[in-house]
Amino acid sequence: MEFIIPEEIKEMPVEEDKLYDLIIIGAGPAGMTAAVYAARKKLDTLVISKNVGGQTLLASAVETYMGYQFITGQELMRKFEEQVRQFPIPLLIGEEVKKLSVQDKLFAVLTSNGKNFKGKAVIIASGRRARSLKVPREKELIGRGVSYCATCDAPLFAGMVVAVIGSGNPAITAVNDLTKYAKKIHSIVRASVKADPILVEKAERSGKVEFLSGYAVKEIRGEDKVERIVIKGIKGDEEVVLDVGGVFIDIGAIPNVEFARDVVKLNELKEIEVDCDCKTRAAGIFAAGDVTNAPEKQIIVAAGEGAKATLSAYHYLIES
Ligand SMILES: Cc1cc2nc3c(=O)[nH]c(=O)nc-3n(C[C@H](O)[C@H](O)[C@H](O)COP(=O)(O)OP(=O)(O)OC[C@H]3O[C@@H](n4cnc5c(N)ncnc54)[C@H](O)[C@@H]3O)c2cc1C
Repeated sequence: MEFIIPEEIKEMPVEEDKLYDLIIIGAGPAGMTAAVYAARKKLDTLVISKNVGGQTLLASAVETYMGYQFITGQELMRKFEEQVRQFPIPLLIGEEVKKLSVQDKLFAVLTSNGKNFKGKAVIIASGRRARSLKVPREKELIGRGVSYCATCDAPLFAGMVVAVIGSGNPAITAVNDLTKYAKKIHSIVRASVKADPILVEKAERSGKVEFLSGYAVKEIRGEDKVERIVIKGIKGDEEVVLDVGGVFIDIGAIPNVEFARDVVKLNELKEIEVDCDCKTRAAGIFAAGDVTNAPEKQIIVAAGEGAKATLSAYHYLIES
């Protein structure tokens, strides 16, 4: 059955002069779930986001979101959006939050277009972005062999030869995830492997992994999908071409926290520190999903944390 968004609430007006109960920054899985919970608590809420869907839009196949054995990331996010738009919640999309500040126990949000909004509470659900290699064809081949998430995409590479780029625990964990599916894994490491020995030993025991230390990726090749990568020795000019069907890039992620770094506490990875109620160190500011120090970065986790953040914000609002 076709989902129909009620006409009268399709485009709720966004008002600059108003004091909102709650401002949610980000409309990925965490922000959209937070918005639905806020609507059900009848909080006067505004959602501000650069886009609708966040990183999940890049997931070619999601097999870990309960209720769907298989769904593309784009389709799942469309369903999230439909659910949000059933409620009278204004969504300001295409707008980047530049600054979050505290003014007399209220919160001021300044956007890239110079708009100002005020809220009694804020949920930061701005997610993160993968650190990219910045090499030719990387961007064009995302979802066509280039992946930033082995937990999500490893099963799609069954029987193939792949490369994993990165030297830390996440990269070698990705290598180990891939040993269950791929035929062979080239583990490309710039200097030396920094992951825990237990992870490295596990990879070696699989008999499927070739460690190539001292190389950086020069370019990814392929028209419609990844076909090979060119790696270059970091000392000297030696170049090696590897035929691979997939490239997993695991060289870290950057939390989208630039606008909030003056008001919340960040950990050493620049993630917002939250407690198990999604409270930050600043009363009235909550955070949820990949932008936080919550350990697992997954859609279902982000959605759950988004729900918790709104319920915590609700208690804060009725108690303050
Ligand atoms: C390629 C890929 C495949 C994946 N596959 C899977 C999978 O199969 N299964 C799974 O469970 N997980 C998967 N993940 C992980 C999953 O996508 C994330 O865990 C999830 O999207 C986190 O949700 P979030 O709402 O916390 O953040 P995001 O999804 O990052 O959403 C953040 C939102 O905030 C907005 N935003 C950011 N900065 C600002 C700003 N300054 N102002 C306004 N808005 C802002 C963004 O536009 C976005 O809408 C995958 C990730 C990637 C990259």
